[in-house]
Amino acid sequence: MLDLAIIGGGPAGLSAGLYATRGGLKNVVMFEKGEPGGQITSSSEIENYPGQKKPGESGFEFMSTWLEQCSHFGLVNKWANVTQVVQNEDKTFTIKLDNGESELAKAVIVCTGSTPRRAGFEGENKFFGRGVSTCATCDGFFYKDKEVAVLGGGDTAIEEALYLSNICSKVYVVHRRDEFRAAPITVEKAKKNEKIEFITNATIKEAYGDNTGLNGIVLNTPDGEKELEVPGIFTFVGLNVNNEILKQDDGSFICKMDQNGQVEVDLKMKTSVDGLFAAGDLRTQAPKQVVSAAADGAVAALSVLSYIESLH
Ligand code: FAD
Ligand code: NAP
Repeated sequence: MLDLAIIGGGPAGLSAGLYATRGGLKNVVMFEKGEPGGQITSSSEIENYPGQKKPGESGFEFMSTWLEQCSHFGLVNKWANVTQVVQNEDKTFTIKLDNGESELAKAVIVCTGSTPRRAGFEGENKFFGRGVSTCATCDGFFYKDKEVAVLGGGDTAIEEALYLSNICSKVYVVHRRDEFRAAPITVEKAKKNEKIEFITNATIKEAYGDNTGLNGIVLNTPDGEKELEVPGIFTFVGLNVNNEILKQDDGSFICKMDQNGQVEVDLKMKTSVDGLFAAGDLRTQAPKQVVSAAADGAVAALSVLSYIESLH
């Protein structure tokens, strides 16, 4: 039986792993379905983590040392896709995996984070991976010296537009309003960038192309339809929290959730179920920052140490 199962290996999960193992827990496994590091590894740059030696480094580079540090203190990283967490009658938890296996744990910290949302325009799914992308760091280079479009007005959209402006010949930022959620300083920087053109109060009517991939998009603008002949469109329209593993067989959630499907926690990252904790982007009112996800993970791990102690 594991003392602690951590589900998700982003900043919250890794930080939880560090504090739990360094705090003396012996059987701690972090279940991660991909490469540890979380969604920040798809970011072209991060510069707002306190104490960063190289502000502006890529998210992948920034996260590259976190697992090694945790492993040093005994965290085991298991490559596995968790499908469900259920509580047993004796208050332990069963962690079900997609390969049919399962693990028992005394306590669980859920850190499954969030994933990019689809915008919902016609052709988005058809050309996804063939011109439509949600990762500029991954796919930007395919459009070197070409024109591309970015959809969205949040921090991700504007920051990634700036990143793409270093590679592409032109970047159209298409946003459905003329006010931005992104930090004003970032918007100002983008507005001063000669390669970036803002098209506001506009939505994408459709994406079109052929069997080689995307050829362009048609916009609905206040002046009527407008066509952009771009081979790439990067959509950054927000995130969905990854809460599926908390769903029980009857469709209800194992613990209390808020109206946005995020896990309700107290200041110790405790959910409404004893022994079950949540940290990072998944929890209610998360600021959705690396620093806050990491802090949540540490808080949750410290709470688990007290919880395990209380079982003796
Ligand atoms: P995540 O990072 O989402 O990690 C969750 C992990 O859980 C993932 O690795 C996932 O594979 C794993 N997982 C999910 N479901 C399962 C499952 N069923 N089984 C096993 N594993 C699972 N924040 C900043 O502070 N500064 C920035 O500059 C910044 N830039 C960003 C740029 C981009 C492009 C994006 C997308 C985000 C950015 N953020 C930034 C936000 C930041 O990345 C997130 O707030 C942070 O990563 C959240 O950490 P987390 O650990 O809660 O979740
Ligand atoms: P976000 O802040 O939710 O912004 C999503 C954007 O997409 C909004 O501008 C929204 O428009 C638009 N949008 C939503 N649905 C759409 C649709 N169907 N069609 C067209 N446009 C649509 O998401 P995000 O930018 O990914 O950021 C997520 C979180 O991570 C935020 O909390 C953010 O601050 C954080 N983050 C921080 C940093 C940083 O600190 N440097 C960097 C990246 C992300 P409206 O504005 O009209 O709703």
